[in-house]
Amino acid sequence: MFEVLVYEVRRTAKVEKRIRERVAINRCLHIDDSDGRHVECDQPMVSLGLCLQHVNEHNHIVRGLPTKAAKMRFRAESIRNGQALESFELRRLRRILKSRFLRVADEVA
Ligand SMILES: [Zn+2]
Repeated sequence: MFEVLVYEVRRTAKVEKRIRERVAINRCLHIDDSDGRHVECDQPMVSLGLCLQHVNEHNHIVRGLPTKAAKMRFRAESIRNGQALESFELRRLRRILKSRFLRVADEVA
């Protein structure tokens, strides 16, 4: 049987803004909000917008989910709430940021 699973991901402007800020300074998207805290991870992004430790945790959770649908729902929800990026997204965002820097460089030259 062929199964097609599609999840549309729409982020709020606030989430998009935070993602762009974190990509600009190359810092992991993970927030530790256990025990009522709000601590942002200060490690550099390596994949999916996360540092090595947090991308490993993210992938570990995905692997532990029982169905393909559950894995996709978890990925979609993480991407929607800004706790991870799509696999292609980091490169795209970095390219956008770089081109913006180049535009400013042109303006001040
Ligand atoms: Zn991290």
